[in-house]
Amino acid sequence: IPTLSALYKDKTVLPSDDEPAYKPSSALNDRISVIRQDITKLAVDSIVNAANNSLLGGGGVDGAIHRAAGPKLYDECETLDGCETGSAKITDGYELPSRKVIHAVGPIYWKEGKTNAAELLAGCYRTSLQLAVDNNCRSIAFSALSTGVYGYPSDEASLVAIETVRKFLGEERADKLDRVIFCNFLEKDETAYFKNIPLFFPPA
Ligand code: ADP
Repeated sequence: IPTLSALYKDKTVLPSDDEPAYKPSSALNDRISVIRQDITKLAVDSIVNAANNSLLGGGGVDGAIHRAAGPKLYDECETLDGCETGSAKITDGYELPSRKVIHAVGPIYWKEGKTNAAELLAGCYRTSLQLAVDNNCRSIAFSALSTGVYGYPSDEASLVAIETVRKFLGEERADKLDRVIFCNFLEKDETAYFKNIPLFFPPA
């Protein structure tokens, strides 16, 4: 049985860029995966979008998700009346392979300052996990919220994300959540997750 740290170093366990579906071989333990992939290609129960307060689309991963989901996603988002920073709302996935989309609004890092930003980012992860459970999602894939144009440093953001997920998975309400996937797009975010996951999910 390979150890956790050995798996981290063996990048061949990660799906290749042109491989659409989530592969269990990218698992780091029986409930956590780190992958580097286009989140719009994942056939999971829910993906988490890095949205903005309007929930009406934007650039980055938000634009990619809206393009892949088709116009019905925008129509449903219009009915939601926006979303506060640090929280999230859920919609259907429409043309996406994912059944649901959770639209989380992360903090703009330089606007909030480090402490406030961390609280708000943790709120995004907590709310998203709760929404997934409430909607019978057994799997959830997070994009690296706030680490794009919102300027959150990847290392700090990954620590908040991993710690919040670790806490949630330790609670009874998370029992039906089989898998949490950290879906990165850029190498800097993937590197941060590989570095920090062992702090909260130590090797057996
Ligand atoms: P924010 O405004 O919250 O910073 P961005 O969309 O700019 O949102 O970036 C959030 C994260 O999503 C970044 O780490 C970015 O690299 C990543 N990202 C961009 N496109 C995709 C995609 N298609 N799939 C997964 N992640 C993506």
